[in-house]
Amino acid sequence: MQLRKSGYRFQKVSHIFISHLHGDHYFGLIGLLNTLHLLGRSQPLYLYGIQPLIQLINIQLELSRTTLAYPLVFHPFETEKTSIILDDVEITVATIPLNHRVPTCGFLIREKAEKRKILKDFLRNVKVPFEFFEKIKDGEDYTDSEGKVYPNHLITNDPPLARSYAYCTDTAYHEPVIPLIKNCDLLYHEATFMEDKAKDAHAKFHSTAREAATIALKAGAKKLVIGHFSARYKEVDSLLEEARQVFPNTVLGQDGMTIQV
Ligand SMILES: [Zn+2]
Ligand SMILES: [Zn+2]
Repeated sequence: MQLRKSGYRFQKVSHIFISHLHGDHYFGLIGLLNTLHLLGRSQPLYLYGIQPLIQLINIQLELSRTTLAYPLVFHPFETEKTSIILDDVEITVATIPLNHRVPTCGFLIREKAEKRKILKDFLRNVKVPFEFFEKIKDGEDYTDSEGKVYPNHLITNDPPLARSYAYCTDTAYHEPVIPLIKNCDLLYHEATFMEDKAKDAHAKFHSTAREAATIALKAGAKKLVIGHFSARYKEVDSLLEEARQVFPNTVLGQDGMTIQV
C-alpha cells in the first residue's frame, strides 16, 4: 500500500532487506511477494534476512499453493557479527549487528568510490591513446610521445565522494554500532521513546530520541532521521526537539519522504 501511495514502480524493487522478525518489520512481505507474482514479475527478487525468514515465507506459499512466477533468491545472514551481504557494481551492503529482543541487524549501504575524472578540456587538446585512460583515472601522470609530463592533478578532477546510508532499527542504545557507521552521510536510527520513558526503552530494547542522536553524534553522521515512534506520542515534534538538542541536523522520518544524500 505504501509503495502504491509513493508511486514507486513495483518492478523496480529488486532487493529486500529484513532486519528482524518482529511483525511490524515483515508481516507485509508475503503480500508484497504475492502482488509481484500477480503482476507477472519474471525478474529474480533478492531477499535478505535471518534463516527462519525463508521458512516463514515458504510455509505461506506452500499452504496457499502459490508457485511464484519469478525466482525468489534468499540470502541468509548471521546477526552476531558484521558481514558484507551484497557486493554489486556500484554499492555494497553490510550488516550492522544491533541489540534487540530478537536477533536483529541494521544495514549499511555504501557506494563504491568512483575513479578520478579526466578533464574534457585536456582530452580535447591532447591526443591521449585510449589505453592510458584507465591509468590516468587511477591517478597516474600522463607522459606523451615526446616525453612531456602532465601531472595527474592538472588533468583530472576528484571523483564525487562515495555516499553511505546506515539503517539502524530496532535497537537499544548500542555503541558497537558506532565504528561500523563512522562518518555515514545519512543515518536512520529508531527513536521509539523519549528520555522520560528511558526505562521502558531499555526494558524493550528500544532507543530514546536522545540516544539515537548520541549515536549520530559519536559516529560523525552528517544527517539523522529518527522514526519507529511509539504510538503513545500523539505528536512527535517533542522527539525531534529532544534529538536536536544533541544532534541538530535531525529530521523526522515520515512515510514516503525523499531525502537527498
Ligand atoms: Zn522489533
Ligand atoms: Zn519494530
